[in-house]
Amino acid sequence: MTIARVIVDVPAIGTDKEFDYAIPEKWREMIQPGMRVAVPFGPRIIQGFVIGLKDTTDVPRLKSISKPLDMTPVLNKELLRLGEWIAEQTLSFKITSFHAMLPAAMKAKYKKVIRKTDHMKLISLDDLFGGKQEIDWKEAEKRNLLPDLHKEINKGNAEVIYLVKDRAKTKKMKIVQPAVPHHELRVAADELPKNAVNQIKLLQYIHAAQEESFEAGDLAARAEVPRQTIAALVKKGILSETEEDVYRDPYKHKHFQRTTPLPLTAQQQEAIRPILETIETNIHQTFMLFGVTGSGKTEVYLQSIHEVIKKGEEAIVLVPEIALTPQMVERFKGRFGSDVAVLHSRLSIGEQYDEWRKIQKKEVKVVVGARSAVFAPFENLGIIIIDEEHETSYKQEETPRYHARDVAIERAKYHQCPVVLGSATPSLESFARAQKGVYQLLTLSKRMNEKQLPSVAIVDMREEMRSGNRSMFSKELFEKLKDRLAKREQTVLFLNRRGHSTFLMCRDCGFVMQCPHCDITLTFHRYSNEMKCHYCGFQTEAPQTCPDCASSHIRYFGTGTQKVEEELSKLLPEARVIRMDVDTTGRKGAHERLLDHFQAGRADILLGTQMIAKGLDFPNITLVGVLSADTMLHLPDFRAAEKTFQLLTQVSGRAGRHELSGEVVIQTYSPEHYSIQLAGKQDYDRFYRQEMAMRKLGSYPPFYYLALITVQHEDLMKVISVTEKISNYMKARISQDAILLGPVASPIPRINDRYRYQCLIKYKREPNLFPALKKVLEHYQTKLSKEGLSISIDVNPYMMI
Ligand code: ADP
Ligand code: ZN
Ligand code: ZN
Repeated sequence: MTIARVIVDVPAIGTDKEFDYAIPEKWREMIQPGMRVAVPFGPRIIQGFVIGLKDTTDVPRLKSISKPLDMTPVLNKELLRLGEWIAEQTLSFKITSFHAMLPAAMKAKYKKVIRKTDHMKLISLDDLFGGKQEIDWKEAEKRNLLPDLHKEINKGNAEVIYLVKDRAKTKKMKIVQPAVPHHELRVAADELPKNAVNQIKLLQYIHAAQEESFEAGDLAARAEVPRQTIAALVKKGILSETEEDVYRDPYKHKHFQRTTPLPLTAQQQEAIRPILETIETNIHQTFMLFGVTGSGKTEVYLQSIHEVIKKGEEAIVLVPEIALTPQMVERFKGRFGSDVAVLHSRLSIGEQYDEWRKIQKKEVKVVVGARSAVFAPFENLGIIIIDEEHETSYKQEETPRYHARDVAIERAKYHQCPVVLGSATPSLESFARAQKGVYQLLTLSKRMNEKQLPSVAIVDMREEMRSGNRSMFSKELFEKLKDRLAKREQTVLFLNRRGHSTFLMCRDCGFVMQCPHCDITLTFHRYSNEMKCHYCGFQTEAPQTCPDCASSHIRYFGTGTQKVEEELSKLLPEARVIRMDVDTTGRKGAHERLLDHFQAGRADILLGTQMIAKGLDFPNITLVGVLSADTMLHLPDFRAAEKTFQLLTQVSGRAGRHELSGEVVIQTYSPEHYSIQLAGKQDYDRFYRQEMAMRKLGSYPPFYYLALITVQHEDLMKVISVTEKISNYMKARISQDAILLGPVASPIPRINDRYRYQCLIKYKREPNLFPALKKVLEHYQTKLSKEGLSISIDVNPYMMI
């Protein structure tokens, strides 16, 4: 075909459509949908995605594609279609959605080379490659070699590699191979001087080995010769040595104990049967696997995947970023070994790319990863599993604002395969769907080995205060801490970071230090003695006296993990404490190291934020303390109660998962709140009913869908007037059944010197809504983007502030 349909890389409303380009004769064989190409656009040459081919167009003066940027499609048909679907659902641009599906390494700024895939037999490629193992893309382009190289790539003789400069991370392997035909090795050995014992030995070894290539160190060891022997024979032209990238496998140094499927309990069997049926019969169905922590959900995942692999199909497992601990990875690597690729944001760009390549080259069957792993380019998907499905990190908070759950279901429909949503505390949205029969509910109500859930005590911190205890630990928690220290058992102390930080307040005048650019309180960082804004990055030295009244009675309030750590070292100097928060886990691998430490019993107390709430499964933890359960309750977010319930249930589940039974102490200033009461009883069903009643009362999800429009600009008056215009425009276009709230100032009214106003639309069925929202974007994008006005629309928002 002669014409390509191209989506160009200009993320704007006016260019969010396909453009036709002629395919020059010499590229006709090559260019396919899913490849990127360079095209002339206005005065520039830019990148674009080919989404389809055709033979006719009504564009009068057709421009031509300048050159291809890929040799094989980077997005297959399914993913191209998915990208368009995401763009529609999230009101974002197609080009933005396509980019979101690709690993960062494939952005244009990285250098590409074309590399031979084989070491021996491709003498025929020597002309093309000039005798080298690889050739620079730019050079190939200049010498007009791309069409020929493309043929070799299609035959599997060569591949395109993106070179990502991860400093000191690219690992090279030295590959040795004979430089002469195999039968001549004997002759060469005979011709060597008799005293070149090692060289003769090496050649004889290679001749006998019947292998085409060797890793240098390995070869030397096997032939029992020093490395220099190889070098000597390379110099004589009998052997050749080349360098090759090896996959930078971040889990390489870990040994994963192989595991085999466990005989399932009756409950597990009942839960897995419907899943296996859909796998067998290739039907799409979404399952809600509702099971308390430790009820054996993961084993159900593993055995479902096992069936999928047996059928020759592939599996995606999504876990929240912070739950992607070595422990979690170990369970999948342990069962499926090198069939597993792992994708998460702590990997370098190069490492992520390596894992992605394994998927694309069909070298793995299973991907375990965070949100974006839902885009793994598998072509025979047999199952998608989303563990901890209630986690808000499955929603991407930048464009395209997709939710991995929706994307997973869309992909599973295409592949006619099941989706399994697993959780001990399902999101209200998902559980409501399960209740209505949209999802099929599967329940695991018992913990393995009939282990009792830990006993939970709720401590009223106001009472503690009244009885004269001013410490951050209640008497009960402190006694239990001492008890565990004496018994040499481990404790997890959890501090809710959300809505909770250390701030500075003057005791005389009540002055609280705020960010000069945002309407938010500055956070005190003790080690650097600085005040920092967590929204815009502003920082300044902490003052000694009140900036307002000059009083010296300026104090730091609130509780940070650092402060808890200090308090612990005062009260329990003998306790060995590991603190885990953003400060101590910033460096790569730190997270894993700290956990290894704790697991090895080199600490008594693990103190941390959200990141310790998930996935920990250590036998010696018998006490969990929650220092302040209610900090999140008062955030301006309709999900505050749900999040509090989920977090407390999750944290409590860390205790007593094994032989020793566990206890949980929850400290709170609002002990009567139903989310705290019911988390203490681990009673999801009652929480669900109560919270559903609240949502109904407030017209919130799952009774209504939401669309949040946020307007930002430096000029407050402008923000207000634009938001008002948008509100009026929308009001006229939605039905009586929809509710429009606003315009009002956003919960954080100013960030980075830009004012923020919003309006929130609650709706059920509103066919005119999306077209109207699109019109709003279109209008303001073309008219006002130059003035620095920004408008964002978040469909089904999770960040309400
Ligand atoms: P969840 O994922 O629901 O938190 P897990 O799958 O981690 O639960 O199971 C909890 C513990 O029980 C794990 O140590 C797991 O190895 C074990 N387990 C799971 N299923 C079985 C089974 N059928 N027989 C024996 N032990 C099991
Ligand atoms: Zn700020
Ligand atoms: Zn003051």
